Amino acid sequence: MQTTSIQYLKGIGPRRAKSFLARGVHTIEELLYYFPRRYEDRRNFARISELKEGQIYTIKAQVLAGGQRNSWRRRAFSITEAAVGDSTGKLSCIWFNQPYLKEYLKVGALLILYGKVERYNSRLQMNNPEFEFLDNQDNDSLNVGRIVPVYTLPSGFSQRSLRRLIKNALDEFLPKINDPLPFDLRSRHHLLNLAQSLLNIHFPQDLPLQKQAHTRLSFEEFLLFQLTLVLRKLRRKEKIGTRHLVSGKLIEDFISGLSFTLTVAQQKVLAEIKADMASSQAMQRLLQGDVGSGKTVVATIACLAAIQSGYQAAFMAPTEILARQHYEKITSQLEGLTFNGRKLRLGLLAGQDQQKQKLYQDVREGIIDLVIGTHALLQEDLSFKSLSFIVIDEQHKFGVGQRALLPKKGNNPDVLIMTATPIPRTLAITLYGDLDISVINQLPLGRIPIKTLQFNQQASNKAYALVKEELNYGRQAYIIYPVIEESYALDIAGAKKMFTELKSGEFKEFRLGLIHGKLKTREQNEAMLKFKNKQLDLLVATSILEVGIDIPNATCMIIASAQRFGLSQLHQLRGRIGRGKLQSFCILVSDAQTEEAKARLAAMVASVDGFHIAEEDLRIRGPGEFFGSRQHGLAELKIANPLMQMQLLKAAREEAIGLLNQDARLEERPHQLLKAKLLQRFPEYEKLMLVG
Ligand code: ADP
Ligand code: MG
Repeated sequence: MQTTSIQYLKGIGPRRAKSFLARGVHTIEELLYYFPRRYEDRRNFARISELKEGQIYTIKAQVLAGGQRNSWRRRAFSITEAAVGDSTGKLSCIWFNQPYLKEYLKVGALLILYGKVERYNSRLQMNNPEFEFLDNQDNDSLNVGRIVPVYTLPSGFSQRSLRRLIKNALDEFLPKINDPLPFDLRSRHHLLNLAQSLLNIHFPQDLPLQKQAHTRLSFEEFLLFQLTLVLRKLRRKEKIGTRHLVSGKLIEDFISGLSFTLTVAQQKVLAEIKADMASSQAMQRLLQGDVGSGKTVVATIACLAAIQSGYQAAFMAPTEILARQHYEKITSQLEGLTFNGRKLRLGLLAGQDQQKQKLYQDVREGIIDLVIGTHALLQEDLSFKSLSFIVIDEQHKFGVGQRALLPKKGNNPDVLIMTATPIPRTLAITLYGDLDISVINQLPLGRIPIKTLQFNQQASNKAYALVKEELNYGRQAYIIYPVIEESYALDIAGAKKMFTELKSGEFKEFRLGLIHGKLKTREQNEAMLKFKNKQLDLLVATSILEVGIDIPNATCMIIASAQRFGLSQLHQLRGRIGRGKLQSFCILVSDAQTEEAKARLAAMVASVDGFHIAEEDLRIRGPGEFFGSRQHGLAELKIANPLMQMQLLKAAREEAIGLLNQDARLEERPHQLLKAKLLQRFPEYEKLMLVG
């Protein structure tokens, strides 16, 4: 009955139903889960005589006088003004650009106002307060004398009408509602039952109960979400993949031929990957490691395990430059190695290759052992003879859909997904709870931490001087700009023009290159190659260099207009230097204005630790922004917040694992309501519940 359309509720016609639809609400149950965005405590109103500047208040007052004027900017905006008062004093209220308000704000009208009190010409006033009329005849206990919910309004509703609608629905349906959380689970975690929770999330009896309701509903949401992840993981483990031969001469020769020894962290992670590859279960492992921690070589060794087992491997990188770099590096590392009396055969698939058809054929016939490429690897007409291992580098640069495509080209191949955006462990569980997780938590020995400095725009020449000093030692440097073409409006310099300027000015005695996304790929590759071969000293670039580029002789980076970059992005950019044994310098040039930008730059100066930076970034931006819209999951959470409720999240995950271990398809009686709820919220999981 809760799955009935809201159209059947009194007071909802087709028009209102439609405006609810736009907010994702179709059914009565979804209406009950349409939570307030905040509350107002209207049990006691603040008195006007007691208001203090800078605080937010709810007051109850009567309109004493009203008026409207246009600002000096003539029609640019209008100002509607009302003097309001209670028995203790008067207050002025101002609304911008809402001239129609004049009609409503009649002298004598009784209002509830909510807003921040500010000082204007020595008087206190509220700017753009939210307000509601109090109807004198309407002694409505829904809108005053209690903690009142405030909703994001679907069109066609006022706060009052929506409160009334939801209250009616609660009154009618709560007595009949069944709790999807089994009783024993609820009592284990001291959770309120569903009816009480829904009542108190909308119309809290008091604040502690509101909090309990919030906790219970968050737990439910976490649990449903974790169930989907754990389910996916369980179903995957039932799939039979390939048993790989994980030790052998090829791998040993490769490792002993490296110019360095693997770090302890690399060895540990490699062991985890090998264990997965040796088993017949299909692997899906996320490899996290800070920039420069040496993920590529670990992935390469895993590819060799597939090859020495007689299969093919694929390595997907987000850009052509990066694919090419991996291809060249791995080719040179494989120099001189043989397997079964022959050399290994690598293929590069990036962009519009002339040799594409030949390469396709070689991959199809199994002549190529390892193919490295961009998303070009996803093309339908590329098929493998026997693909058993896949690496996806810098996974956040691919969409979820894209990541799912490559494995379809093999028979449940093992998949290694790599990311240099470290995520705090508990959060990684929420987002990637269907994956196994490995972490390289150590940089190669002998790395000296990068020094990060911050200069004002005015002091740019000081930054240049530092760079020149490095160049004179035979080292190389990057200068990064946020845009290709300069923007006068935003007052930021662009890479293209600065390249020309620096080349004939500040850096005229050096060899400069330019690289950005609007250049032809051939030109990009050329510049990259020249820089790598030390035919260039200084590379002027955009954030196209953000991921992967690995040139240990580059020890210096200037990031111009650094405030234009996000924190994680800055960290990735900075990761292009400090890759060898030399001291590296990163110089952030910025006249940061906003608090947020200042916080970001301060975090960069203070730390080189990617995990720490990621946590800061999360804190500054919040989870939605941090993970971006491409990531599944977090965007769908309505009430729960993994950052604020980590303990609850952990508890929910443990319960999800326990539940599914005991009842893999949630078929037992006490779990059926939960299953129904899960399928309602995530219908795409129907298949996972039933199949397998
Ligand atoms: P990322 O994890 O950022 O992808 P890379 O795999 O590109 O890092 O490695 C960064 C650099 O460190 C490369 O030049 C790589 O050859 C080198 N490297 C990797 N592992 C080690 C190690 N154990 N000791 C020294 N250098 C290493
Ligand atoms: Mg990398």
